[in-house]
Amino acid sequence: MWEPIFAVGDQGSEAPRPSGRLAGLPSYGRGRAGQGVVFAHRLGSNEAPDPPSAAIQAAVARAMAGAHRYPDLRGEMLVEALASRHGLPSDMIAVSAGSVTMLDQLVRAFCDPGDRVITAWRSYEAYPIIVGGAGARLLEVPLDSDHRLDMAAILHACRSQARVVIICNPNNPTGTMLGPAELEALLDAIPAQTLVILDEAYADYADEAGMVASSPARRLSRHRNLVVLRTFSKAWGLAGMRVGYCLADRSIVAAANTVAPPFPLPMTAQAAALAALAEGDVVTARITASVEQRRRMSEGLAALGFQVALSKANFVWLAVGEEAGALTLHLHAAGIAVRCFHGEGVRVTTGTAADTQALLTAAAAWMSR
Ligand code: PMP
Repeated sequence: MWEPIFAVGDQGSEAPRPSGRLAGLPSYGRGRAGQGVVFAHRLGSNEAPDPPSAAIQAAVARAMAGAHRYPDLRGEMLVEALASRHGLPSDMIAVSAGSVTMLDQLVRAFCDPGDRVITAWRSYEAYPIIVGGAGARLLEVPLDSDHRLDMAAILHACRSQARVVIICNPNNPTGTMLGPAELEALLDAIPAQTLVILDEAYADYADEAGMVASSPARRLSRHRNLVVLRTFSKAWGLAGMRVGYCLADRSIVAAANTVAPPFPLPMTAQAAALAALAEGDVVTARITASVEQRRRMSEGLAALGFQVALSKANFVWLAVGEEAGALTLHLHAAGIAVRCFHGEGVRVTTGTAADTQALLTAAAAWMSR
């Protein structure tokens, strides 16, 4: 029989210690109360409510048959397909296991310890973890009173030698968005030596499909310091397959690839993403449905007396401040998973019409308690 050499916990002061960079870093939380809890309405993680199509599932099953071999080294076939979708050469695109991994690669590739990274705040909760983990310093510039990015304040912060600026547009968790002209003005004003990471995880919900496909190429032709991040996790309905990518000048893509692990994407994930790219109509229908539920949710919640930020994403932000924790528990009790930002607000993802109805019923009960 196998005998343990030492009991867990025996190592004491001899145990390896992680880098001091990790001290005080927040850890990424789940958008629902854990795997064990089953919610009838899963509105906590900005996922798509519908499962992948039969065609995507069949493509994944076919890819499995070759799983004893390594996949493409850098997802070359998927990169080619993305290049044709976005009208860019393939060396201006790199894929990763989720866009959050590409964000991590970019920060590691462009930041030295102590470098300054700027972002608006509140924004995506992975930013402080990634920046801190790379040993860089994150400067969080508060959103304005409408929960929107404060352009003047971001530009002011950029004057003090920012290495990287991260702009989440539409912003998670508020859903607010800079329009094309505002974004262009901001990109124009950021110094050319600062890398601008434009995180467009939710761009698909904000604009017409042709514009969403063509906007990176247009922006990249004017701003060589720009990198656009996209994901298959939201409107493309493949959160569980972990596929993201960036579009940027070839020197930026080369740097991101330098710090990438070999074979970043399983062949099943590449197959799923390729099959999804062939189903533009499914994606358009999913977006239309989500935008309709966003409208119903936003209007219904506002009519109940909630302060609802103007969202261009697949979620709405309820700026309930100190009541965030209690509202979250109330919604959990009604079988609705949401994301709680303690002391700030609650983020609710759009789902099916039934999800919206359940949310509005529970929200009405909260207001009349
Ligand atoms: N950026 C933003 C703004 C997000 O909200 C998320 C997911 N919640 C991501 C990036 C990461 O998405 P993924 O890694 O699934 O592509």
